Amino acid sequence: MIRAIRDARPLGGHAPIDVTISDGVITGIHPAGTIAAGEGVIDLEGRFLLPGLWDEHVHLTQWAQHRRRLDLSGASSAREVADRVADARSHAAPGDTIVGGGFRDGLWPDAPSAALLDTAAPDHPVVLVSADVHCAWLNSAALDRFGAGLPAAELEGARTSGLLREEAAFAVTRQLDAAPDDVLDEWVAAAAREAAARGVVGVVDLEMRWSVDDWRRRTAAGFDGLRVEFGVYPQHLDRAIEAGLRSGAVVSETVSVGPLKVITDGSLNTRTAYCCDPYPEEAEHPYGLLTVPPCDLHPLLARASEAGFELAVHAIGDGANKVALDVFQKLGRGGRIEHAQLLHDSDLARFAALGVIASVQPEHAMDDRDVAERFWPGRTRRSFALRSLLDAGATIVLGSDAPVAPLDPWIAIAAATTRSRDGREPFHGEQAITPAEALAASTRSLVAVGARADLIAVDTDPLSASGDALRTMPVALTLLGGRVTHAALPQLARS
Ligand SMILES: [Zn+2]
Repeated sequence: MIRAIRDARPLGGHAPIDVTISDGVITGIHPAGTIAAGEGVIDLEGRFLLPGLWDEHVHLTQWAQHRRRLDLSGASSAREVADRVADARSHAAPGDTIVGGGFRDGLWPDAPSAALLDTAAPDHPVVLVSADVHCAWLNSAALDRFGAGLPAAELEGARTSGLLREEAAFAVTRQLDAAPDDVLDEWVAAAAREAAARGVVGVVDLEMRWSVDDWRRRTAAGFDGLRVEFGVYPQHLDRAIEAGLRSGAVVSETVSVGPLKVITDGSLNTRTAYCCDPYPEEAEHPYGLLTVPPCDLHPLLARASEAGFELAVHAIGDGANKVALDVFQKLGRGGRIEHAQLLHDSDLARFAALGVIASVQPEHAMDDRDVAERFWPGRTRRSFALRSLLDAGATIVLGSDAPVAPLDPWIAIAAATTRSRDGREPFHGEQAITPAEALAASTRSLVAVGARADLIAVDTDPLSASGDALRTMPVALTLLGGRVTHAALPQLARS
């Protein structure tokens, strides 16, 4: 346990401070030089001290699986993918399946084949999943291991092309996802350590399963690397109420029950986000899909609210957001809207008025900006409208929706403040927010007496750092309730 921090620089140009900590709480803030060096005292040597970061929307188990996979996004040929597989093979244990994801072969000059991957990794099964997950590229060893149940014709074809599509591809990826609990738990613990190394002290885990058993098992096995609030989905609401669960119910010192999460529309990429205006191109559902109509949403949220649950409603299109706000208004209570990607002008002020928090993922704007221009033409000034939300008095919180974007709040902070990535023109730069605002939306505490000692130290001032510097911000120290969950300080490495 850490009992004090010396020579820390607060944000905002204030004089360096020493901070005392007891029982996981900040107990004193003094001018630097007040506290003597000693055991349990960390000297930050003038580094910047700020509250620990939260990622307010993650799917932690999916992320833990995803981050182990070889990232093939950006590969411009089958040959390049094979080279990356050959490189991965040199770090793989014998017999391990090499799993990659994110390839897009539509514009490749050469064709994938089983033989290409056989040469790259002759002794390891290789399964590569396309970016849209509807196609899998396998080598011969993988076809032997995972192909057993496939129709003979599909398997025969794949012996040459290496490719499986649709159901045949899903049949293989389902086998990959079905790792035993103890293996998944190890991966989750590793993902938590990696998150702590990015300054994360807490996440809202919206994994779509009966998560309480997972978290009881993990905490019993010693998981304490992050604060976790896990969501409950409507299909499990009755079971949760019977089990006496409610938001805030404690599973361990760091893990507790989070909100009821309900998904009310689809997504932008599939043109299923429910919108006030029709999609410009022929779509099966011209306005998208409202999967939970108001007549069902209202009683569901009312029941969850009475049972003591916080409410989190997934709404991406402006139509779905309007419906969600209407229901919050009827209920006479606030909650959260997850995503809030496209908003009608007349709804901006309702977030503050109704006490509804906008839980947004700024990096999606970078991923989706071209798709948004195509599917929401003339409306993108209202998409990811962070500046407008803040100006209308709303509270926003930031997240990644990992594995959709990496579990790294610095990426979200960079996207929110620059509206740019890879040197592109800002995407509606007028909707950028300041670094101070982005940090406030990524933290839940302050560096103040009485606050939890969830603290991080960084080398660079985030209030004046460039977008690229924010994206890659090195984190020197992470404390969770006064306990070190990450340290890259030379003095701690020595001890
Ligand atoms: Zn999500």
